[in-house]
Amino acid sequence: MNYGGYVLGTWYPMGGFYQLVLAMKTVAEKEGARFHFNSPVEQINTNGGKVTSLLINGEELHFDSVIASSDYHHTENLLPQSLRNYAETYWEKRTFAPSCLIYYLGFKTRIPGLKHHTLFFENPLDAHIDDIYEHKQWPRKPLFYACCPSKTDPGVAPEGHENLFLLMPLATGIADSEAMRERYLLEMMERLEKYTGSTGLMQQVDYKEVTA
Ligand SMILES: Cc1cc2nc3c(=O)[nH]c(=O)nc-3n(C[C@H](O)[C@H](O)[C@H](O)COP(=O)(O)OP(=O)(O)OC[C@H]3O[C@@H](n4cnc5c(N)ncnc54)[C@H](O)[C@@H]3O)c2cc1C
Repeated sequence: MNYGGYVLGTWYPMGGFYQLVLAMKTVAEKEGARFHFNSPVEQINTNGGKVTSLLINGEELHFDSVIASSDYHHTENLLPQSLRNYAETYWEKRTFAPSCLIYYLGFKTRIPGLKHHTLFFENPLDAHIDDIYEHKQWPRKPLFYACCPSKTDPGVAPEGHENLFLLMPLATGIADSEAMRERYLLEMMERLEKYTGSTGLMQQVDYKEVTA
């Protein structure tokens, strides 16, 4: 994604970004790579400062070499304490990327006036940033991103339907509840209706999944 953004610009792979994952897997397999899914590395074993084996699903497995592409803090925690570059006190002082609340929605109607990408930035950016990093609370005046891939790709929703996801950046570690999720969904839908001139969109929702 980062390479695509910096080097190529804004593009959308037909079928969604997962197609890119499948394409990379196909290329790697053609070059002889083998994938092992559902294989979380539980521990990195070392001898003399060199990795000797990995503990995966309770089994010790040996490899010629190991490259870790998972998060740095997480990867270090798989190593013996003495080989970690940073103490836990270092990580406690770091500012981590925000979390986000994402709604995956299906509508049994088209939403005219909406584009593939829409940023709802009617409210001041600084207030939302302060609620994430300073106050660590639910945003009082949230900004959000609406992505409607069915505007570009007819394969991601049945004919006459729309596929929409809404993303709202959120502070990490705040108390979450169904009621809060519903409240923010209603607020976003209200702003979306106002922007597109639509009405009654909530009654047209035929698929809903929320993740934070
Ligand atoms: C909602 C959302 C929207 C985003 N939008 C954008 C965007 O528009 N543009 C953009 O450039 N970036 C975006 N990003 C950020 C982008 O997704 C990340 O920067 C990128 O995926 C990081 O890639 P990575 O390979 O470092 O880590 P990851 O993609 O996190 O890959 C790490 C992999 O390691 C695996 N793993 C971790 N621990 C273990 C273990 N112990 N054993 C085995 N496997 C393990 C994980 O399962 C994962 O597959 C977004 C992120 C999110 C969450």
